[in-house]
Amino acid sequence: MGHIQNKSLDSVAQSVVLEGTVRSVALVVGCADPRIHFDREDWLFQQYGEKALIDRIILAGATKEIDVVLRQVKLLHHHHQFPKLILTHHEDCVAYGGAACPIHGHAGILYNNKALFEEVLPVDVEIEMYVQTLDGLFLPAHEHLLIS
Ligand SMILES: [Zn+2]
Repeated sequence: MGHIQNKSLDSVAQSVVLEGTVRSVALVVGCADPRIHFDREDWLFQQYGEKALIDRIILAGATKEIDVVLRQVKLLHHHHQFPKLILTHHEDCVAYGGAACPIHGHAGILYNNKALFEEVLPVDVEIEMYVQTLDGLFLPAHEHLLIS
């Protein structure tokens, strides 16, 4: 059972090469902070398998330089046609003043910018948003919005 499951995960994760076109399984946007790098990679491997072709945009502040990120997202989708965009921010990000921007602050930023990503991608691209803790948890942004 486990073997079959792994095999199907693998086949989902593998690239499909069609007429010279590389297709990735997802694009991940995340911060350059080295404290969160390995947990993010482990999390991706757990979900997609070790050999998955995953596009990555790694920039200080993740989505902070939104125009740069949107251009890169659009370009990478044009080339690799990923079906899923994963936007991640993280706890204690210095690009947002560290502790001055708590988890719900990051969740709000991600949530508020979602429409900008929808504008540059086809409607069938799924967009997931997470705030990564320094402990390596990935908290879904929509569950951590501050409701006023
Ligand atoms: Zn950061």
